Amino acid sequence: MLSNLQQQPADALLALIKLFDADPRADKIDLGVGVYRTGQGDTPVFGAIKAAERKLVAEQDSKAYLGPEGDMGFVTALMPYIFGKASPDMGGRIEGMQTPGGTGSLRLALAMVKRAGYSRVIVGKPSWPNHNQICADLGLAVSEFNHAGADGKPDMDAIRAAVAGAAEGDCILLHGCCHNPTGIDYSNAQWDEIAGLIAEAKLLPIIDLAYQGLGLGMEEDAYGLRRVLVAVPEALIAYSCDKNFGLYRDRVGALYAMVSDPTELGRIMSNGHNLARASWSQPPDHGAAAVRLVLEDETLTAQWLDELDQMRDRMRQVRAILAAAGKVGGVDLAPVGGQNGLFSIIPFTPDQVQEMRSRHGIYFAGSGRINVAGLTTANIQNFIDATAEVTGV
Ligand code: PMP
Repeated sequence: MLSNLQQQPADALLALIKLFDADPRADKIDLGVGVYRTGQGDTPVFGAIKAAERKLVAEQDSKAYLGPEGDMGFVTALMPYIFGKASPDMGGRIEGMQTPGGTGSLRLALAMVKRAGYSRVIVGKPSWPNHNQICADLGLAVSEFNHAGADGKPDMDAIRAAVAGAAEGDCILLHGCCHNPTGIDYSNAQWDEIAGLIAEAKLLPIIDLAYQGLGLGMEEDAYGLRRVLVAVPEALIAYSCDKNFGLYRDRVGALYAMVSDPTELGRIMSNGHNLARASWSQPPDHGAAAVRLVLEDETLTAQWLDELDQMRDRMRQVRAILAAAGKVGGVDLAPVGGQNGLFSIIPFTPDQVQEMRSRHGIYFAGSGRINVAGLTTANIQNFIDATAEVTGV
């Protein structure tokens, strides 16, 4: 019977890592997988996390089970950063639970909406491929709209039309900041409009916030999420700490539900707990415990925020250098300067993507998505020159 299982395609980005590793050229450049890199090309553990981990080893006296909701101290400690210090639980309307990464949180959020009777998810295109994959696996239909126009700006007409065409029983899945893969985020004024549109159409928003602090700043990157939350009665928020605490493989995330009636929270979240129990039972503890220790300690919190500022500053510097190069060959790098987070899409054709790999040893996704953090002072000019050569006429 197991032989009934069909071969599934390998994840394209993970396959890219293998291709990159097999390339013998010393000056090859990896702009593929979405992890932050320093100017030296490393993805180090945050100093604040190292300190918290030392404390954890010294002080943790049990590894007994915590329950499907995980470390609630961690879940609560994050809330002022996500929802604002003024009212971190919006008057008792928000409750959360720990999940294995942002992926675990999205999986639970989408399973909850499915169980609640929603049947379709409206998603901007392109999106992080796992959004569609999770929806497909759960049997949720996906309705796509163009996220960005040819001018490199958010396509507001497309989202207006998508919301206008929505039916009862639809949700809308939005990237809170640092859009993956385009880097193209909504402006505050655009979020103001989107919040109103969603509220008017009575759609359930699911906000995916996987890169808070990597765009413009911790507060700035939460603008859209907070703006939507004050406009609607209910929402789900899928949060990842894997980028902004550098904890990728430790799988640190949280799911939050906001409801209109606080007395409903327990019942609604019991579905998250029950779905988690049937999936992974309990989330991995280590990374979330380290985040909690950082957030419980003023000095470590300041250190973490400082390290996050440095990451963001470096990515902004790389973006500024690319933007200053302007038109190179047949592409314009100027829009990259106004985009946010780890990613931007450079409009390479599929053949040009292959040429960048074969002729120059520069690896990135077939969509033309580059991880800007893979560029350093040592290799950025090579990237610009190769882009000019490959895309030039
Ligand atoms: N949402 C988006 C938009 C992402 O890009 C990612 C990670 N690439 C995630 C969620 C999930 O992150 P995690 O590694 O925490 O599961």
